[in-house]
Amino acid sequence: MSQKTALVTGAARGIGLATTRRFLADGWTVAMIDRDEPALMAAADGLTGAFPVLADVSIPDQASRLIDETLARSGRIDALVNNAGVADFGPVEDTGFDRWRRVMETNLDGVFLVTQAATPALKASKGAIVNIASISGLRASTLRVAYGTSKAAVIQLTLQQAVELGEHGIRANCVAPGPVRTKLAMAVHSPEIIAAYHDAIPLNRYGSEDEIAEVIHFLCSPRASYVTGQTIAVDGGFEATGIGLP
Ligand code: NAD
Repeated sequence: MSQKTALVTGAARGIGLATTRRFLADGWTVAMIDRDEPALMAAADGLTGAFPVLADVSIPDQASRLIDETLARSGRIDALVNNAGVADFGPVEDTGFDRWRRVMETNLDGVFLVTQAATPALKASKGAIVNIASISGLRASTLRVAYGTSKAAVIQLTLQQAVELGEHGIRANCVAPGPVRTKLAMAVHSPEIIAAYHDAIPLNRYGSEDEIAEVIHFLCSPRASYVTGQTIAVDGGFEATGIGLP
């Protein structure tokens, strides 16, 4: 039997790179998808068992090409991790339509397009989908009209995938991370927001990329064989507090 293959989007850094390493540690082959060529090549260099595929998940023909390239290299897809995302902090009145579209294109359209292209391969493997949302998709704030809306839509898209594809043995779940010190988060988290998160999170700290990757890997493994249609907040308990986002 050929080795199991995970396809991870946004794999050049942050949570996607940690997820790649977690699957490799378990003996999987990993297709690392990203649109940032230098970062992707640097990240894939020296990672035995992983191969890079340069593609933008938000562009329809690139979404189908990245699946074709993955299948040409590995012959199968057992886990699809829709992780590529962009951040944007903006309120309702000041978020221009170009900013709104930029967020939706990657965070929502990308998940739709890549999953659609991967579905025949996932049916063949009875594979698993994990979509990366955010606690911003579970809670509103004064700052996240595009980002929060895109992530709430990803949570609903996950439910659709779970309900529709379950009869093919495909499971679909969502991970909603709390704050993690990646390039994406640090570009928008001010010192005030960082301090407010530390106070608000019951564990009083940001999460690590590895802590998110561990849950993603679990959801794709046979240990989660009866789990589908769920959103798991990996957030140090923030969601349990019931308070608003900083
Ligand atoms: P990151 O910026 O470190 O990494 C994101 C990667 O995605 C980058 O390598 C980037 O080049 C790639 N990417 C972006 N748009 C792409 C596209 N259209 N096509 C292909 N690749 C693309 O970010 P991260 O913090 O690791 O975020 C990963 C996911 O986790 C995102 O969906 C993000 O919204 C989510 N998330 C992050 C946090 C956090 O605090 N870091 C919290 C909640 C959710």
